Amino acid sequence: ITSKLRILVTGGAGFIGSALIRNLVQNPEYHILNIDNLTYAANPEALAAVRHSDNYQFRQLDICHKSALKLVINEYNPDVVFHLAAESHVDNSIADADIFVQSNIVGTAALLDVCRQTWRDRKHSGTFIFVGTDEVYGANTGDSPYNETQALAPSSPYSASKAAATLLVQSWQKTYHFPAIISHCTNNYGPYQHPEKLLPKALYMASRGQSVPLYGEGDQQRDWLYVDDHVEALILLMQKGVIGETYHIGTEVLTTNSALLRTLDKVLRRDTSDRQRIEVQHVQDRPGHDQCYWINTDKIRQLGWCPKINLEEGLERLVKHYITV
Ligand code: NAD
Repeated sequence: ITSKLRILVTGGAGFIGSALIRNLVQNPEYHILNIDNLTYAANPEALAAVRHSDNYQFRQLDICHKSALKLVINEYNPDVVFHLAAESHVDNSIADADIFVQSNIVGTAALLDVCRQTWRDRKHSGTFIFVGTDEVYGANTGDSPYNETQALAPSSPYSASKAAATLLVQSWQKTYHFPAIISHCTNNYGPYQHPEKLLPKALYMASRGQSVPLYGEGDQQRDWLYVDDHVEALILLMQKGVIGETYHIGTEVLTTNSALLRTLDKVLRRDTSDRQRIEVQHVQDRPGHDQCYWINTDKIRQLGWCPKINLEEGLERLVKHYITV
């Protein structure tokens, strides 16, 4: 392990974390430690391909358990931390925000402090990459995309907990000169996403011949990024990101939820020879639902990143994954 770059990933059994690990593990110069407490959202199947890799290790651990976290991180002494562990579903946060406050805020504070102390005690400076969301800005109400200096104005308990975590990271940067980079990414989609989320839910319902509930008129605008493009951006931030900076990650292409499901329907019909289709059932809108998220991604593009997979190609990959799994 000592000769390799030691990379700690929190939340690595989730949708994005597992995609990140599947990529990182292919590089023999990296060693990856995954810390995850395996909530309902974790999907061990997503890590089946890497489970036996020499350069991969897993510890089941809650990031809120600071003393246990300290032992593990102190022993591992990471060079890089990707912090993804979080409760991630907005509807759940509206039903009960407690666990969001715990995992997303208390857990982030514990992780920040343990990393700070470890790097201080070991006279080792690593890089901490916080994986955040464009939802922290609330709805975009202007006629241009928000840049990285936009004030945080979250609408849901989920986005408020991610905004609080973002502020904690910023305070560690300012107070302790803590070596952190903040990223805010748009909606991700791809294989192994939990079926509570719109696209996997739509495919699941379609496979059972049932309709997909769609909030309100379905005219909310989102920027959909294929998860592998997000992973490439995160790895680029590890390599070239400037400590202390915030970066936006997204395609800058806005799509309404209705249009998204229409494109999914087109791809699904094509790939199943019309055996499956997406039928929409409009349901009462989510309270506090933001109409539009829209962020400017020039800054990370200047580092050399751009998304490679457009929406139709990404949906094609997604459908193929669901049909074969
Ligand atoms: P996910 O819900 O699929 O996975 C989250 C993982 O974190 C799970 O494996 C879960 O077991 C783990 N976890 C939760 N609480 C934990 C705790 N207290 N201790 C240890 N592990 C814990 O989420 P995701 O969609 O993969 O999102 C990952 C991160 O990316 C989150 O921080 C989320 O806010 C952020 N993000 C997600 C999106 C998106 O579209 N999915 C977009 C932007 C940012």
